[in-house]
Amino acid sequence: MTSKNQPLSGNELARFSGPNTFMRLPQATRLDGLDVAVVGVPMDIGTSWRSGTRFGPKQVRAESAMIRPFNMGTGAAPFDSLQVADIGDLAINTFSLSDSLSIIEDSYKAILENDVIPMGIGGDHSITLPILRAMADKHGPLALVHVDAHADVNDDMFGEKETHGTVFRRAYEEGLIVPKKTFQIGIRGSGYAATDFTEARGWGFRQYPAETLWHKSLTAIGDEIRDEIGTTKTYVTYDIDSLDPAYAPGTGTPEIGGLTTPQALQLIRALKGLNIVGCDLVEVSPPYDPSGNTALTGANLLYDLLCVLPGVESR
Ligand code: MN
Ligand code: MN
Repeated sequence: MTSKNQPLSGNELARFSGPNTFMRLPQATRLDGLDVAVVGVPMDIGTSWRSGTRFGPKQVRAESAMIRPFNMGTGAAPFDSLQVADIGDLAINTFSLSDSLSIIEDSYKAILENDVIPMGIGGDHSITLPILRAMADKHGPLALVHVDAHADVNDDMFGEKETHGTVFRRAYEEGLIVPKKTFQIGIRGSGYAATDFTEARGWGFRQYPAETLWHKSLTAIGDEIRDEIGTTKTYVTYDIDSLDPAYAPGTGTPEIGGLTTPQALQLIRALKGLNIVGCDLVEVSPPYDPSGNTALTGANLLYDLLCVLPGVESR
């Protein structure tokens, strides 16, 4: 066996105690030697409806305490091959969205001075724009797998250009992503105009509306996305509101008719083989999550993302 970091076992210390890190992994203050850094971005000042995602990282970590190291569905053993640690939360400025976005970009640039894959826990989806700015600064334009009820391609919201609903228009304008290798899965609901989604298709974005996914396996669609992206470096951004509110009610802007939890797992598992250089899980809002099920689901989706990162082998 290796000496890599392991989640603290429930046979060493009861699962309801111990550190509130992701999967009770060690907390790291240094990045050298890490393959994967879990980072919290506790922010909700970019949201348009319900707030509360500032508590997302804390609650996702709390619910992750029950996750064990081996993936019984896929055989993946991420902690055999990757050195993973939780590096804590970014020190965002809760009184200023624009300052917070700068802090996130600068923090990610510092993280990415190391050869590490960041796994972000949001926070509302506005965190992903500064993350993509830092990611593209290091890696160049990225393929993007964007799972969400919303396309997040508004030009502005209440006159503001940087919100949780404008992220991927800005990313497109700034050349942070490869439009023809940008995939939006699960979009649905009501819009400001009937054409809300279609402009992004003109940029090259590939969209899979929820209605086209109902009652279907997402394995074949995940395979198709993986084949289309090929070897291009890829960022995965997972908005928990892509799931139906029956599965994930604790979120800021819920939309009915969404993905099921098995569909979410099918999609993520089909991405194995992509050159994923970073990912995030956003929009978990604990105040609207009385059962804890949304944070539990978010924690497990992050774990399954960890299981498909480059270098993870199955037993
Ligand atoms: Mn979103
Ligand atoms: Mn959304």
